[in-house]
Amino acid sequence: MENRLESTGTSFLDEVQRRSGTPISACFQCHKCSTGCPIGPEMDVLSSQIMRLIHLGEEKEVLESQGIWMCASCEACSTRCPMGIDIAGVMDTLRMMAVERKVAPPDARAKHFAHSFLQSVRHHGRVYEMGMLVAYKFRSRDFFTDMDKGPKMLMKKKLAFLPIRSGAASEVKEVFKRVEEEKEQ
Ligand code: SF4
Ligand code: SF4
Repeated sequence: MENRLESTGTSFLDEVQRRSGTPISACFQCHKCSTGCPIGPEMDVLSSQIMRLIHLGEEKEVLESQGIWMCASCEACSTRCPMGIDIAGVMDTLRMMAVERKVAPPDARAKHFAHSFLQSVRHHGRVYEMGMLVAYKFRSRDFFTDMDKGPKMLMKKKLAFLPIRSGAASEVKEVFKRVEEEKEQ
């Protein structure tokens, strides 16, 4: 897949700030976001480094990083930032930009996971973990990674066999429909 990382006419910093609605330029590199990130040890580029790379206009390095796909949107970074920067929101924005510009994640499993997660939310109005995992396993063909965790999660009642439909499922479906209509315009 050929990606599209040509200049968009505005600076990368301006575009990410505008789309995420948060003042990235206020970052003074204290690293509080990175040190509190539960996924940090697994990331190739930490959240504070991503903020710095955005300042430097390193669009390619940011959008091709595995870190933006590993982010679990837990918001620990946004809560810890002394400048009130919504780093989790920036990560969301960067994933959207990577998809729009057809930048494939370094590990294709990230794309399969995101797809399976969104499909699950679309159908049930919330994530149905068991169904999402089965869909992910078939999409990624990665059948054996973390298989040992399944029985433990079932025993601790962290996984349900049957989906629990959200009371707002039809509203969630409508959101997906609107997004698709906007993409077609
Ligand atoms: S939202 Fe993402 S980057 Fe921020 S702390 Fe959580 S996992 Fe880390
Ligand atoms: S916590 Fe905020 S100010 Fe500190 S490095 Fe992260 S984004 Fe920058």
